[in-house]
Amino acid sequence: MAQGIPDELLTNSDLIKELAEEAKDSALTRGVLMRLQETPNSSEVVSFAPFTLFPTPVPKAVFLQALAVQTHYNTLVDKISQDADFLQEALTSTIAVDDFTARLFKIHQQILKEGRSQTIVLGLNRSDYMLDQRENGTSSLKQIEINTIAASFGGLSSHTPGLHRHILEMASRLEESQRILDNNPAAGLAKAIAKVWELYGSEKAVIMFLVEEIQRNVFDQRYIEYELLKRNIHSIRRRFDNVFKTGSLDQDKRLFVDGKEVAVVYFRNGYMPQNYTSEQSWDARVLMERSRAVKCPDISTHLAGTKKVQQVLARPGVLERFFPDQPQVVEQIRATFAGLYTLDTGPEGDQTVAMALAAPERFVLKPQREGGGNNIYGSELCQVLEQVKDSTERTAYILMDKIHPTPVRNYLVRQDSPLKISNCLSELGVFGAYIRQGKDMVMNECAGHLLRTKSSEHSDGGVAAGVAVLDNPLLF
Ligand code: ADP
Ligand code: MG
Repeated sequence: MAQGIPDELLTNSDLIKELAEEAKDSALTRGVLMRLQETPNSSEVVSFAPFTLFPTPVPKAVFLQALAVQTHYNTLVDKISQDADFLQEALTSTIAVDDFTARLFKIHQQILKEGRSQTIVLGLNRSDYMLDQRENGTSSLKQIEINTIAASFGGLSSHTPGLHRHILEMASRLEESQRILDNNPAAGLAKAIAKVWELYGSEKAVIMFLVEEIQRNVFDQRYIEYELLKRNIHSIRRRFDNVFKTGSLDQDKRLFVDGKEVAVVYFRNGYMPQNYTSEQSWDARVLMERSRAVKCPDISTHLAGTKKVQQVLARPGVLERFFPDQPQVVEQIRATFAGLYTLDTGPEGDQTVAMALAAPERFVLKPQREGGGNNIYGSELCQVLEQVKDSTERTAYILMDKIHPTPVRNYLVRQDSPLKISNCLSELGVFGAYIRQGKDMVMNECAGHLLRTKSSEHSDGGVAAGVAVLDNPLLF
């Protein structure tokens, strides 16, 4: 293909082998790193984070469209988080059957009842898209989901542009090398955290990264931490159990953990049921939510990112509720929606079931889960739907049109894995950062991008799940 990497390069196996070896060194020296699966909590021996050998062509217009809509998505997520009636309506059928979402919702209700003790809100999200190929050869931007909690790879993707430039220079592809965009989500995300730290207004207070038990992706987070340190803002890394054991609130509901006042809790954990290993994890979450620390995200913003909310937003008239006098904003956001369908009980949900069973290959069945590997496709989709279609259990899922990106040939470079050419599909993520203080938006920005690419053999899964790898867009 004209815009991308020419076939003569892709098929030059000696050169490819040489480039891949060189690329691994380049990734390591540039800090595109990940801990080993066998030793996820040790930095004694680490490897490179998986990446594509070449960047992937992405149409410029579609890329710019994704950047341009991001501040509107920020506003939308924030408005949803403040609309208790909407969240209640949207999530009622889900929480009736999904214990995890129900539990989160209960905390949200508890906080509403007690009153929020912090008027500053920090949102760091990532809206993910695939480019659906149209019949006329162009492609359209379709949102896969928006992640309002623990959106990752802002740190590592700040270091991959240099890696791809280096590889292309080695391959004497200077023109393409110069087309790789700068990208620094680590700085963009840290800028928002730093601003919130200032607004919180306590010199000694720290940022607390709430981290997982298994911390393979620690380096991704470190880059944000180091950006903060440049501004003399200190961070600590703690797990739920640390917060449970040493966390407390003073009479002003200031959060102290290990004796340190916490200005911001930055959740890089807590998005899936397995993250809550005991009741103590839930107690720790409640303690943080009740505190005066700024939560990124707070519990309501976490819920705003559920797949059920995404489906409800696609219903006629719903976006207008949030942007009553801004038809252009509504149009810009709606243009990125794929078909999304309810499985709530009733005739509309019945119609969804019939439609999915008649043509399962056209759809993806999604439970209210995050973290990759949960979606259901093809014959399994039929099996699951047949099982749940006559019970309320079906409301734990939504149905979505399957997006078909154009496959691009590339090599996935990963540790201990043979180098072979694959048909690849990419997913573009755009980072958003916003701050609201009371009623005022004091920051609303697009903070960078992420391209992840996987072999088309896999229908699901991200980088952490071992399926996708880091990539860069090559605009044309
Ligand atoms: P998660 O919260 O688990 O990340 P996603 O909605 O992002 O859930 O889905 C996981 C993966 O499944 C995506 O990264 C993408 O590869 C694939 N996927 C999800 N939705 C679709 C869709 N509508 N069409 C095609 N692939 C999809
Ligand atoms: Mg996802």
